[in-house]
Amino acid sequence: MAYRFAPAVESMPRARLAALQLKRLRQTVKNAYENVPLHRKRMRKTGIEPGDIRSLEDLARLPFTVKSDLRDHYPFGMFARPRAQLARGYTLKDIATWSDLMARSMACAGVRPGDVVHNAYGYGLFTGGLGTHYGAERLGATVVPMSGGATERQIVLIQDFGARVLCATPSYALAIAEVAEKEGVDLRRSKLKIGIFGAEPWSEAMRREIQARLGLKAIDLYGLSEILGPGVASECVEAQAGLHGWEDHFIFEVIDPLSGKPVAEGAQGELVITTLTKEALPMLRYRTRDITRLSTERCACGRSHLRIKRITGRNDDMLIIRGVNVYPSQVEAALVGMPDVAPHYQLVVERKGAMDHLTVEIEIAPASAAAHATVAQAAKHQIKAMIGVTAEVVVKNPGEIPRSQGKAVRVRDLRPKAP
Ligand SMILES: [Zn+2]
Repeated sequence: MAYRFAPAVESMPRARLAALQLKRLRQTVKNAYENVPLHRKRMRKTGIEPGDIRSLEDLARLPFTVKSDLRDHYPFGMFARPRAQLARGYTLKDIATWSDLMARSMACAGVRPGDVVHNAYGYGLFTGGLGTHYGAERLGATVVPMSGGATERQIVLIQDFGARVLCATPSYALAIAEVAEKEGVDLRRSKLKIGIFGAEPWSEAMRREIQARLGLKAIDLYGLSEILGPGVASECVEAQAGLHGWEDHFIFEVIDPLSGKPVAEGAQGELVITTLTKEALPMLRYRTRDITRLSTERCACGRSHLRIKRITGRNDDMLIIRGVNVYPSQVEAALVGMPDVAPHYQLVVERKGAMDHLTVEIEIAPASAAAHATVAQAAKHQIKAMIGVTAEVVVKNPGEIPRSQGKAVRVRDLRPKAP
């Protein structure tokens, strides 16, 4: 069996997990109520006190927290601890918890103590770099702290240090693969076996593409700075079928984004997360804007924690093109895998008269001998067939779509901003 970081917790029976959640939820609500004026004010307005939380069902009585709350109380207004007790946006205990959860997530993804982990997530205010760094060290791995950029050098060091694990955004992993191919380096023959890819939505088609070009198992990782950073949820290497959300530290809900009401298990909606152990920044029912589904169906790996299915997009990223809801990841799923199309794309949205107009910029595959017009026609047809929207397709030459070294920019929205 694959190495596990916290085997007892990871396969804890769901009834015991629920009891632990309730105990921790009560502590979290108390922490938020006593120490964060916004949470106290909102709860009083709703007519609820910490003592009213007697079961997990009572969670639904708590008000939501949204991204603008963080902006409105920037920089220190949402913290439940005085600034002097913060080491970054976390207490030291929070950083220890985060390290443990990232170590657990990475082990879940197939990383083992002693592995060489090449960390190409950006270091700095972006939590991907430091979170991965701390988690890999906690797990007992050797970290190569590369950060993003200097792609040629990344390729040299992946080979020199014999990295078994590559951590990056999926779009940057693809950029690494591309530069390596151009340089005549076959990374499929390197020691890379596992890729841990997160921080942006990506499709199954993109997974297949990355796996084929880098010769590794591509594992999805989920997290967000407002909640913890990376390590909120991770796919398991055994099943690669949805992200195990660590329920001893978080409660996951999916709601209808319009009504705010919880949806039935398995139905699509907006992911809402409540933290259970965060000291510095407790979050009650934080609306992530990420669109997904939850499943408590038993996983082949034996872990009991629920699975968050692939994030299909962010509410903010959703485009409405002549009445059809479109996520960039749907366009990605439609295009990646077409033989004449390289897996790089950008969506340009403009307003023409009263109508939204979508242009999809794609790149012809370097080895393709097809005419641009033929490829454009095929891509247009594919997008119409799979998403139901008519888009103009512009085919560019290899290398003309900008490459990301971190989070990819998938949409250029040129529509006039609402006043
Ligand atoms: Zn699993």
